[in-house]
Amino acid sequence: MIEYDYLMPKSLEEVFDLLKEYGSRATLVAGGTDVMVKIRKTRKAPEVLISLRGLTDLRYIRKNGGYHIGALTTHRMLEQSDLVREELSALHDGASEVGSVQIRNVGTLGGNICNAAPSADTAGPLLALDAIVVLEGPEGRREVPISEFFVGTYRTARKPEEVLVEFRIPEEMGRYGSAYWKHTRRKAMELPLLGVAVSLDLSEDRSMIRDARIALTVAAPTPVRAVPAEDFLKGKALTDEVLEEAGRIASSPECCTPRTSIRCEAWYRQDMVGVFVRRMARLAAERIKTR
Ligand SMILES: Cc1cc2nc3c(=O)[nH]c(=O)nc-3n(C[C@H](O)[C@H](O)[C@H](O)COP(=O)(O)OP(=O)(O)OC[C@H]3O[C@@H](n4cnc5c(N)ncnc54)[C@H](O)[C@@H]3O)c2cc1C
Repeated sequence: MIEYDYLMPKSLEEVFDLLKEYGSRATLVAGGTDVMVKIRKTRKAPEVLISLRGLTDLRYIRKNGGYHIGALTTHRMLEQSDLVREELSALHDGASEVGSVQIRNVGTLGGNICNAAPSADTAGPLLALDAIVVLEGPEGRREVPISEFFVGTYRTARKPEEVLVEFRIPEEMGRYGSAYWKHTRRKAMELPLLGVAVSLDLSEDRSMIRDARIALTVAAPTPVRAVPAEDFLKGKALTDEVLEEAGRIASSPECCTPRTSIRCEAWYRQDMVGVFVRRMARLAAERIKTR
């Protein structure tokens, strides 16, 4: 039997006190769909699991100036939110693709991002939507752009004494169209071979690209933005040739460094980046038109 203590504080202050008391002997747990799998797989547990499930006020999706999403918001809440589907479509795509309904009912957005797997299905969407990660610790709050949050494979900029409390998405992202593609070998529950998220802002007549974000997952040791491809798109006409070239740039070593793994070869991931940047850009543009 694997033994550990399970503590369920009711407030952030209590969480901070427990983190101070147990330090590296404790692990935070939200939905537990990553933490518990790791404990079972490695047959090793921390001395204490500090559950965040008592912090029920960290489960929300609000539009108030920008968009505010509590760290304990589940993937299922995102999937079922009309606001997220209509205005933050890439995040809706990503959250709806996580595991199964059972997993989405308990797995949280904060857990997906703090786990920092290169394949996390909400990482690409949040990068393409320019999300800000809000962290709180005993010294107060600080904000980190999500593009600076992933510092290595399964490593983040979160300090051990901090809790991720909220994601903030700038108000203007509601004007952008966005889309995320999880590329898998089959339709059944699976981790992506590759993830591609694109958000676009178009001119009034929809013919020119005003602004673009492209995010790639499982294409580098961490989720990444393909900035050179984004820069190429800005100010260009929305044509197949332009999107094709953006895809080519995004798949180049300037933007991504996919590896060969047991699930897929590097060259295939690289080729597919080009294909899905093009397709997701088209879908993102269409989603603006249908609003
Ligand atoms: C069967 C199965 C299928 C899955 N399929 C997918 C999939 O298709 N796509 C995908 O992306 N993921 C998938 N996952 C992984 C997992 O479900 C997600 O990553 C989920 O979002 C994790 O959220 P959680 O709340 O369960 O995290 P937990 O397991 O509770 O925590 C994960 C990590 O984040 C930390 N943490 C959690 N919340 C906070 C917080 N607020 N502040 C600071 N640290 C925090 C924990 O300490 C831990 O290190 C799957 C998992 C399973 C078991």
